[in-house]
Amino acid sequence: MSRPASEFALIDRHFRRPSRHADVRIGIGDDAAIIATAPGLDLALSVDMLVEGRHFLAGADAHDVGHKTLAVNLSDLAAMGARPRFALLAGALPDADEHWLARFMDGFRALAGRHEVELVGGDTTRGPRNLCVTVVGDLPAGTAITRAGARPGDDVYVSGSLGGAALALHALRGAIHLAPDALAAVRVRLDRPEPRVALGLGLRGVASAALDLSDGLTGDLGHLLAASRCGARIEIARIPADAALPLHGASRALALQCLLAGGDDYELCFTAPVHARPHVDVAARDAGVGCTRIGSITAAAELVVVDESGSPLAEMPLAFDHFR
Ligand code: ADP
Ligand code: MG
Repeated sequence: MSRPASEFALIDRHFRRPSRHADVRIGIGDDAAIIATAPGLDLALSVDMLVEGRHFLAGADAHDVGHKTLAVNLSDLAAMGARPRFALLAGALPDADEHWLARFMDGFRALAGRHEVELVGGDTTRGPRNLCVTVVGDLPAGTAITRAGARPGDDVYVSGSLGGAALALHALRGAIHLAPDALAAVRVRLDRPEPRVALGLGLRGVASAALDLSDGLTGDLGHLLAASRCGARIEIARIPADAALPLHGASRALALQCLLAGGDDYELCFTAPVHARPHVDVAARDAGVGCTRIGSITAAAELVVVDESGSPLAEMPLAFDHFR
């Protein structure tokens, strides 16, 4: 039997087409679509769906699910440098469980309130639990940070720390044992990702390219490199790992998998020219989020990851893909 197509092959073959409208500045292939609307103003549009049993565990706290459903969408706007404005919420629910729904909306609204996002519409139907949010943001015309602007010599950064969400998932599935306080620390990363909205805004005019890390660093950075037609060399020793990641013991392989390809981090990965380092520092400080330089962009179209001794990894951990 032939290998099933990857999620991204499906998107390329069936959805991606040349744009037919001049006001579509960026269509399929980035974190959000960018549409020129009023003079001076662009809209950013993105949609993301969370399916029970796939994106959150059955029995997950509804408050957390409400938070995460909006958070993953705001993260895509952050990756473009857009300011979030409005949201639409489409939900399939197995039953009319108002207690669940009230908690879900408490989580959703708490995050929406912090970012001044207004829920302006949606759809409600019966079915396997499935929540889908469309977000609309805006930004000054022509200022979106795309995946395509990285140039050889640019620095590569990530915000915050990586790997914790994936480690939590492995622990919840019983693949690794974590002490209760270590599990609690990484569960927050899995259940309540913090979209880096303020950082995204601060990186407009500073970052040359950006995307958010939803499927794992190496796979997602690979998308940025493909869009920018270049490569990168990144160093494991520089990647900010969540504290609970067991990088130095018997579970190193699993820890590396979480760090490089874990997914669900919802941090930003971005590039910026070397001369912009002071501006990156200001954006990070103003947003209250650490940003760490993990390597640099190269001309050869290849992603090289070197370990602590400077040797390139022989095998790259596979990023998350819904169909592989
Ligand atoms: P992200 O992880 O940033 O949400 P995805 O990896 O889900 O992005 O999708 C990659 C690109 O493909 C995005 O630009 C997205 O809008 C687009 N895309 C994904 N699925 C579809 C679809 N069914 N129809 C049109 N575009 C799609
Ligand atoms: Mg994204």
